[in-house]
Amino acid sequence: MGRRMKAVVKLKPSPGAELRLVDLPQIEPDEVLVRVEATSICGTDVHIYNWDPWSQERIRARNLPQILGHEVAGEVVDVGKQVRYIKVGDYVSAETHIYHPRDLQALLGQFHLGERMKILGVDCDGAFAEYFAIPETICWVNDRSIPPEFATLQEPLGNAVYAVLGEDNDVAGKSMVLIGDGPIALFAVGVARCSGVTQIFLVGMSKHNMEIGRRMGADFVIDAKRKDEDRVAYIREYTGGYGADIVLEMTGSQQGIEEGIQMLRRGGRFTAFGIATQSTLQIDYNNGIVFKGAQIQGISGRKIFDTWYRVRNFLSSGRLDISPVITHMFALEDYEKGFKASLALPRRSAKIVLFPQEEELKKAQARMAERGLAPKGAK
Ligand SMILES: [Zn+2]
Repeated sequence: MGRRMKAVVKLKPSPGAELRLVDLPQIEPDEVLVRVEATSICGTDVHIYNWDPWSQERIRARNLPQILGHEVAGEVVDVGKQVRYIKVGDYVSAETHIYHPRDLQALLGQFHLGERMKILGVDCDGAFAEYFAIPETICWVNDRSIPPEFATLQEPLGNAVYAVLGEDNDVAGKSMVLIGDGPIALFAVGVARCSGVTQIFLVGMSKHNMEIGRRMGADFVIDAKRKDEDRVAYIREYTGGYGADIVLEMTGSQQGIEEGIQMLRRGGRFTAFGIATQSTLQIDYNNGIVFKGAQIQGISGRKIFDTWYRVRNFLSSGRLDISPVITHMFALEDYEKGFKASLALPRRSAKIVLFPQEEELKKAQARMAERGLAPKGAK
């Protein structure tokens, strides 16, 4: 009988997940086995946890049981026979998009958009466990100076970097509106700041998270709930009457998309990141896009490995401090508390980090205390 490990498993096609002792993953010849030091809860995990219509359709009951999670940092403890570049002892994170090297998009350098691309923790077992297995091709070797509680966040931080910089990286000296107050919007504020965006407007609903946005570097914090305020006029007023150069829509809501398009100046870039609950929306197509000469960009994933490279440099240089976005840290066993915190309204959480090994949690708590921070969940 093989060794067993703790894992958070989706067992049944209904809301919730369970902590179980399961067999250690068997690695394929092209895979490595990672001992998880930190892992973090993503919106995708919350969808699967809730077993919402998207996850029912995407994962399907017949693929259960499945281990949740995909954001991770840990150490390689075993490698398959065909693994050539990653070694035992390497400190790694995982690109979530398991790309197929022969997809047309991959051949064109758009690895994250391939037709046969699979997603970690969605199409296969994930990282909410003591160990997990990943193909060598999606391993990213981390800089040792980045502690596990930050290294696990490089995957969503990569989304923020891609959303902020877009395809042309042309942001320095420009104005940007970020609509949303979830963790990626908060990360994006910090990235925008580091990248030379000179006016950062954050539009959100949660007082708690907007305060984090301020600490990440937002110049203007705007309440999306107020009915008596014309947010579009406000942005125009502070941008010389033109509107913002760049708008990042991170909510997928009718209001966010509609206002976001109106806040954009003629010839600006509108980045579509938030997933709408209903794909069919009402927008002013003629004035908002065509006559405006707007550039529209959808963001799905990260540029492999361009954003990983930038994320590593942002973090290891100390230029970007993401610690304010970590609101909770728990032992893996306390995953229920983590999901509860991420679902609670009004929103008082951003990133929630889980630790399968108790000593890693303790070390992370000590590092956060050194920064004068005490994420909730500490015993
Ligand atoms: Zn994620």
